[in-house]
Amino acid sequence: MLKPTPVTPDEVKRHNLARVLRHLHEDGELSRSDLVFLTGLNRSTIGSLVSDLAGADLVEEVSGVGGSRGRPSLVVRSKSKNVFVLAFDLRVDRIVCAAIGLGGEVLATLHRPRLDGPYPVENAIAAILESTDELFTKLPLGATWAGVGIAIPGVVETELGFVRKAPNLGWIDVPFGQDIERAFRSHMGVCPSVVLGNDANLGAIAEYVRGAATTSSSVVYLSGDVGVGGGVVLGGQVLTGGSGYAGELGHLVVNPNGQPCNCGSQGCWETEVGRDAILSAAGLRTGPDSFPELLELGKSDPEKMKQTLNQVGEWVGVGLVNLMNSIDPNYIVLGGHLADIYPYISEVVNRRVDQSRPDRKTRAEILLPSLSLDSPLVGAAEVAFGRLLSHPLQEMEQAFALV
Ligand SMILES: [Zn+2]
Repeated sequence: MLKPTPVTPDEVKRHNLARVLRHLHEDGELSRSDLVFLTGLNRSTIGSLVSDLAGADLVEEVSGVGGSRGRPSLVVRSKSKNVFVLAFDLRVDRIVCAAIGLGGEVLATLHRPRLDGPYPVENAIAAILESTDELFTKLPLGATWAGVGIAIPGVVETELGFVRKAPNLGWIDVPFGQDIERAFRSHMGVCPSVVLGNDANLGAIAEYVRGAATTSSSVVYLSGDVGVGGGVVLGGQVLTGGSGYAGELGHLVVNPNGQPCNCGSQGCWETEVGRDAILSAAGLRTGPDSFPELLELGKSDPEKMKQTLNQVGEWVGVGLVNLMNSIDPNYIVLGGHLADIYPYISEVVNRRVDQSRPDRKTRAEILLPSLSLDSPLVGAAEVAFGRLLSHPLQEMEQAFALV
């Protein structure tokens, strides 16, 4: 029989520092009284923890507006310009990059277009390094680089930093986490921890932590692009499944008589509501360049757009009902191109959902993302902060500051 591991005072302190820093990172500025309430720790312990975090240059106390009468009072907040991570979202037609400060402040962003189709790994690495150089020029000297998060449109083994398959990049079994760490070390001599994640899983994390779905821990995020990906957060944890393949929601079969799918099945959700399926329904040529034309039609003639996309709305609704029946989330957040077309299909979608789930209490609320950046990019930043948020003082001692 195993004996419980003794918990040392140092471990307790590290745990409490992590709790306080995570609250400040996720909830924004808080008074010491707020922190006492949120953690259940006593006032003197909170004072000591805040002092340690301030000593590590992670937080500061400043005058804020607090109390019921709005009187000025001291608040603790993250030093967002002092500690940052880099986040990358490898998309089908571009790489989106950002430097994001502790507390979620967006410090700098960058878009790098790329050709649709397979993406050689060495090209992706070169683009990430070039983007890093450019982002660094926009950051204050002395800022501490605490991590890297990368959203991948495919199946990822996060623990190993391994991309099992990413069809839209043309990658199979790529040890991209190791590759990118090696490249960073050779390019700039250092590299903080690198975390890879499936783009939809990271989108779900972002919407759950600081987006449209923060009031529930049961959230589905759909990443619409060429295909449809899914990320599921249940009980505050990302659903990974037995082999890491959970969330392949684009391959739910919604129309057995539908188009063949590259997964070998027929009438998958993404063959009916993926970007190219929607462009075909609108009579436009497929490819990312045509999507803006479709959105123009929506602006110039919303009624025609609604009629054109009626069938797409039906398939979106059928898939959403399947999700509600199988997962029962409180919120389903539509990302990517699904967010763009939702205003034109919402009536059809909700009619379909109403037919199957007439009791509103038993159906998920359908939301659009509320973040200023795309959700997978924000999620990549969140996981990149993971080590710092778990071991604040230790990570700051080892971290690399811009010079
Ligand atoms: Zn499929």
